[in-house]
Amino acid sequence: MQKSVAIVGSGPSGCYLAQALLKAKPDLKLDLIDRLPVPYGLVRYGVAADHQGTKAIIRQFERLFERQGAGFIGNLDIGEDVSLDELRAAYDAVVLAAGLATDRRLGIPGEDLAGIAGAGTVTRALNEHPDADPLPVLGRHVVVMGNGNVAIDIVRLIAKSADELAGTDLGPVPTAWLTAGHIETIDIVGRSAASHAKFDPVMVKELHHLAHATIKVEGAGTAGEPAGQKKLDALAAIDGIAHGPRRLTFRFGLTPTAFEGAEGRVTAVRFHDAAGAETVLPCDTFISAIGFDTGANLSRGALLEHARDIDAGVLDDGLYATGWFRRGPRGTIPENRAEAQALAARVVADLDAATGRPGLPATGRVDYAGWKRIDAAELAAATADRCRRKIADRAAMLALALNNEG
Ligand SMILES: Cc1cc2nc3c(=O)[nH]c(=O)nc-3n(C[C@H](O)[C@H](O)[C@H](O)COP(=O)(O)OP(=O)(O)OC[C@H]3O[C@@H](n4cnc5c(N)ncnc54)[C@H](O)[C@@H]3O)c2cc1C
Repeated sequence: MQKSVAIVGSGPSGCYLAQALLKAKPDLKLDLIDRLPVPYGLVRYGVAADHQGTKAIIRQFERLFERQGAGFIGNLDIGEDVSLDELRAAYDAVVLAAGLATDRRLGIPGEDLAGIAGAGTVTRALNEHPDADPLPVLGRHVVVMGNGNVAIDIVRLIAKSADELAGTDLGPVPTAWLTAGHIETIDIVGRSAASHAKFDPVMVKELHHLAHATIKVEGAGTAGEPAGQKKLDALAAIDGIAHGPRRLTFRFGLTPTAFEGAEGRVTAVRFHDAAGAETVLPCDTFISAIGFDTGANLSRGALLEHARDIDAGVLDDGLYATGWFRRGPRGTIPENRAEAQALAARVVADLDAATGRPGLPATGRVDYAGWKRIDAAELAAATADRCRRKIADRAAMLALALNNEG
């Protein structure tokens, strides 16, 4: 009897897992389920719009549906539309690859002032996620808190001019936000020392190409190990660049302690260093890129706490977890692959004892052909300086996806 697997989440970890499962067991009934009408998770809604080369991994994932026989069930929220228990009753195995969508908070006074936003809020809005909150007003002095690749993505995008955004898939609203032209200073601030920053040195070196930025690196210090030295070398390579009026400053070893505000808006942010000395930076817009959390989605905390073998991704009989959902907001797209392959071997072994459940009945949700209608419409609507014109409105997506005449 045919065995069945549901993967909740069609981001990179779900797609890599599906690839490995179908390679090992081509006769499997496998459905990738997503709460959105479109697949690919953060590849579409996180990866920066000016990194289209990274988004090209989608072409590899498309083979899953076009050649390996995977099904896509979009616009189905597990936990809202169908409970996890119902899903487990319908499939022999269920894997949670649902990522993490909520911004972690700093937990300091003044955090609810206007002008303060999390990186997830900003990157979702820039990528035109259908559930995105509005972008914060972008003022003259922007502070980006965090030293990971997401912080660098945001700094790079807000430092760019309209010309430098050609070839992206940025829509008119995010383009207008990015290019309103008010920004004078951008401070990128890390809590740790520069040698311990989480960014990839390649991402830092890319800032060399910014056409209108003057870059300064303050307090980078020294490194004790080769990996740390690579980060310092990357910072040294961009320190002193003077290409234009936008002043971009890297600062390290600063912990934020409080925001100052006036009339409900942020005006400054206070930091202290390891010795207790205070630094106050003027700030009209503060973007914190300090990591992600899951919110209430799929009761992740309880599931992980009671997991049978969390290191192997086994939550319970026939229930597994992978990707950011399992291990937290760490790792690039390719880093999800090895984990998915190891988990696939475990799931395939466990399926030997499974009875062969039929999967969910036809649901009237978005299937792969429906997504391809959205995709085709977006590509057809691209203007000369854009590679795609994304549809941000869920109802408009559904109208296209569910129109079988299309
Ligand atoms: C802003 C940002 C930029 C990044 N840029 C890069 C980059 O340039 N290069 C790189 O290599 N890595 C990048 N990363 C990291 C990379 O995106 C992650 O490693 C990867 O996306 C994690 O994959 P995932 O499948 O675990 O989660 P996700 O990609 O988040 O996928 C989870 C999926 O699950 C779905 N889902 C969630 N809950 C439910 C539910 N209840 N029911 C149904 N579906 C659900 C979501 O809609 C989503 O599609 C970036 C990350 C962020 C946040």
